[in-house]
Amino acid sequence: MIPVNSVLQVGQFPEIMQMEIDKRLSTIKLLDPQSKPPEGSFTAILTRSNTQLPQGLLEQIPTIRMVATCGVGYDNLPLGYLKANGVKASNTPGVLNDAVCELAIGMLFSLLRRIPEAQAFVKTAAWAQSPFKITTTLAGKCVGIAGMGRIGQDFAKRLEPFKVQIAYTGPSKKELPYNYYSDIKGLAQASDVLILACPASPETDKMINAEILASLGAQGYLINIARGSVVDEGALLVALQQKKIAGAALDVFENEPNPNPQFLSLDNVLLTPHIGSATAETRQLMTNLAIDNLEAFYNQQPLLTEVKN
Ligand code: NAP
Repeated sequence: MIPVNSVLQVGQFPEIMQMEIDKRLSTIKLLDPQSKPPEGSFTAILTRSNTQLPQGLLEQIPTIRMVATCGVGYDNLPLGYLKANGVKASNTPGVLNDAVCELAIGMLFSLLRRIPEAQAFVKTAAWAQSPFKITTTLAGKCVGIAGMGRIGQDFAKRLEPFKVQIAYTGPSKKELPYNYYSDIKGLAQASDVLILACPASPETDKMINAEILASLGAQGYLINIARGSVVDEGALLVALQQKKIAGAALDVFENEPNPNPQFLSLDNVLLTPHIGSATAETRQLMTNLAIDNLEAFYNQQPLLTEVKN
């Protein structure tokens, strides 16, 4: 049992998630995480990965012992503070793999076959003037995955029927039938399409820089479904403007929800508003897993999906 009003909800949730929360919990809401916390005896926080949880907020509520975030990425949490103060944390891995991988597959084909541009071509009647440009086939290409974790592996399985070679990089080589590269540069050189599925961390910060984009090359494509911080956006803009890579599909940005406006005028990008997990089914699963973790915490059981940091 989760005690009534013991959980502070921080940040706004989409309606479908809020409905799940309100079915199972009685929370007090702090919609703006920067504002003063409401009065109450809170022992846990429920938040989501697009809400940066300020350390200052936790410092104002020292009774908090648990933070449940909806999302697999937990770069929104002040991990140092949580660890130093023995505050537990949980995330929602696994339940969003299907939605994120389906989006990634959609981005892959949309990018290579220029599907959004092709639709605009028909809708603006440009077709009557000339045929649409020739695009490129996925089959026969090498798809490199940076971050062969839960999402990376599910994505690789979905790629197998498409007659591609699959390669990956990451801190550890895995028992997988794909080519392993020990560094991102080697993977970029080998890849026609490079997809990012690693966490935001000090190690991955701006990992995709000018040198890596040059290694990917003028025929290469980049897809980012990880986090905006993994890409040096200044270097990516130059690479796209100067056609040093063929194109990019981006679901995540350094500055969300106001991405660098220079991306908007480029014709070799596909942009989506951080919707990797944004399906009704997935958002319900994520919300319920976050609440299951809160229940485990209040029942003094091990958390189902604890963030170990
Ligand atoms: P995961 O299971 O923890 O997998 C992450 C993988 O990244 C691990 O295999 C890890 O390698 C690897 N990795 C760590 N550091 C790396 C580095 N420096 N270079 C390359 N790979 C590195 O996490 P997941 O569930 O697959 O999720 C991955 C990320 O996707 C999340 O952290 C989140 O940021 C992002 N995401 C985005 C959306 C969206 O809406 N666009 C939705 C969900 C998730 P080891 O296995 O060797 O440790």
